[in-house]
Amino acid sequence: MGTSLKWGSLEPEMGKKRPGFADIQTSRKAFDQDEVRCPNCNRKVGPGDNPKFIGSFGNVASTLATMTCQRCRTMLSIRFVEDGERHAVDS
Ligand SMILES: [Zn+2]
Repeated sequence: MGTSLKWGSLEPEMGKKRPGFADIQTSRKAFDQDEVRCPNCNRKVGPGDNPKFIGSFGNVASTLATMTCQRCRTMLSIRFVEDGERHAVDS
């Protein structure tokens, strides 16, 4: 495993103000076009926010990325789904 995510280091300590966490499900296309917004502060987030793509093995495209919102510091976990899959859920 070349890439590992240190979730342990992100564990909030009891009693302290917890950093926000948010899961976002979107298509890769929408992400690349900056159509994704932070659910906490509604700031637009996208490829310019230094996302870390994880879960990529060999030639399989990564389906998960993590990044921090530059405004509110919420930890965002972005799960990429197929456009068709997303459409099916919406309709
Ligand atoms: Zn935010």
